[in-house]
Amino acid sequence: MRTNVSIVILSALLIAVFASCNNSGTESQNPITQTDTFGVHHIIETGEVYTCKMHNEVMGNKPGVCPKCGMTLVKQKITDTQMKLLTEGTYTKPDYKK
Ligand SMILES: [Zn+2]
Repeated sequence: MRTNVSIVILSALLIAVFASCNNSGTESQNPITQTDTFGVHHIIETGEVYTCKMHNEVMGNKPGVCPKCGMTLVKQKITDTQMKLLTEGTYTKPDYKK
């Protein structure tokens, strides 16, 4: 009987540990979160992006300039095409003024 109780407690603990590990695991396994130096996650959450009018593949989460033409980036709602580039990681990172 005592063994049974121990097993039940042990299983409960294991489930709790597994559940908490699983939660943090999904977060760190997200490729966007892992390489999110340019605020990709933030852009996806807000749906707003700083982009170049001439080069919509240039995307950032804060004001900057286009590395291709030097134009100042403008803030706008992200388009479906841009969202695709962003999630695929094939977008161009802007130059940020220091
Ligand atoms: Zn440009």
